[in-house]
Amino acid sequence: MKVKMILPALTEAESPFWRPIKYSLFPPLGLATLAAYLSDDDSVTLQDQHVEEVDLTDHPDLVVIQVYITNAYRAYRFADHYRQLGSYVILGGLHVTSLPEEAEPHADSIFIGPGEDTFPQFLLDFKNRVPKKRYYSTHRTIENIPPVRRDLIKRNLYLVPNSIVVSRGCPHHCNFCYKDAFFQNGKSFYTQRVDDALAEIDRLPGRHLYFLDDHLLGNAKFASELFEGMKGMNRVFQSAGTVDSILRGNLIEKAADAGLRSLFVGFETFSPENLSQSNKKQNLKRDYQEAVQRLHSLGIMINGSFVFGLDDDDEDVFKRTVDWGVENGITTSTYHILTPYPGTQLYSDFVSQNRILSHNWDDYDTRHVVFKTKKISAEALEHGYHWAYKEFYSWSNIYKSSLQHDSLKHMLKHFFYTSGWKKFEAVWNLLIKTRNLNNMLPVLESILSKVRPSKKEIAHSSTLLPYQSH
Ligand code: SF4
Repeated sequence: MKVKMILPALTEAESPFWRPIKYSLFPPLGLATLAAYLSDDDSVTLQDQHVEEVDLTDHPDLVVIQVYITNAYRAYRFADHYRQLGSYVILGGLHVTSLPEEAEPHADSIFIGPGEDTFPQFLLDFKNRVPKKRYYSTHRTIENIPPVRRDLIKRNLYLVPNSIVVSRGCPHHCNFCYKDAFFQNGKSFYTQRVDDALAEIDRLPGRHLYFLDDHLLGNAKFASELFEGMKGMNRVFQSAGTVDSILRGNLIEKAADAGLRSLFVGFETFSPENLSQSNKKQNLKRDYQEAVQRLHSLGIMINGSFVFGLDDDDEDVFKRTVDWGVENGITTSTYHILTPYPGTQLYSDFVSQNRILSHNWDDYDTRHVVFKTKKISAEALEHGYHWAYKEFYSWSNIYKSSLQHDSLKHMLKHFFYTSGWKKFEAVWNLLIKTRNLNNMLPVLESILSKVRPSKKEIAHSSTLLPYQSH
């Protein structure tokens, strides 16, 4: 059987603000994971529209399309095209799970929730010519799953071909997060077996890894054993974790020993009211600065995530947030306008409060205001969002935030990482055009090499020890 898997481009990937590099980072791991369930006789192509043209002249037997909210309309167009040609089309992903009724008319079968249990069942049904209209994920596990079909990934088209996911979901329940919508009616956080995760790491060439797990430190036992197993593998890696997980116990030290060099941290907001509104309990009464200092003392760079537009935000929130990031030596900041994704608690709350202004999913890209705001106008919110990006990544602020570190190596590392990421668009574009992006990996690996903490940082780190016993 001929199978085609497609990741349609997100709409924002084609906006005038599009930074092509931002959409050429990671290969479509979810589709490559599902491809592993196909049989050896099947011929498979995997196309990611972010990095290549989707060829619409073929006639596959089965088309698998992954749908996010801002590629939904495009995904439906691809689906309609292939159904007209007589292909069997299946749709799955976050948006299909949130709005199955919307997706269903464009598909022969749809998938609700993660696909590791339902896709193999579908393949069996399809072979027996009895496929169902809907597949609901109920039995959730990623233990003993077959190895990801990395042979389908065109590595040279991505800056970070070694992306990897060893868990699904997250133990927390922030009300704006898609996670609960995707994993409803079943387990919403589970991991691979440590041995399988280590074997997957071992199969990846080079040194650099990017864990795309929502919260790599979410299961302390699993993460601790994983980091123990990674010691001596000579890896450098990036991943995501919460403020709480940085401050609790000594997991973060273990991660640093295993090669953690940069962490995506969801600070989101400084307002306790906003944290409560968002059900982000894991950040409440947590000392953000303490978390920052602890990461820096371990030589770990920080990608801080911040949300604008929560009900307690006023017009000063942008400056406050940017200043805090610069003064605390945050390496990169990711700003978002609050977005009520369908299926989330936030969306239900806003619907019941009659606060949703737009149902054009293309606007749900965290750059547009799609709801009635409280203390700030929609115009001021969008303006402040763009201002924050411009300001944080101004040369003067890149210098200033780099200088917040105590060791020269950490300062240089910060400076080259931030400026390299944001200030050399033409170079990135050339690398993408010439299909040489993957050649930048050794540069990234050397920037992520270990920084020895300064005496001051070691002293600071020892002051944290009493907290670690909590
Ligand atoms: S901590 Fe992050 S991944 Fe987990 S529920 Fe909150 S926003 Fe989602």
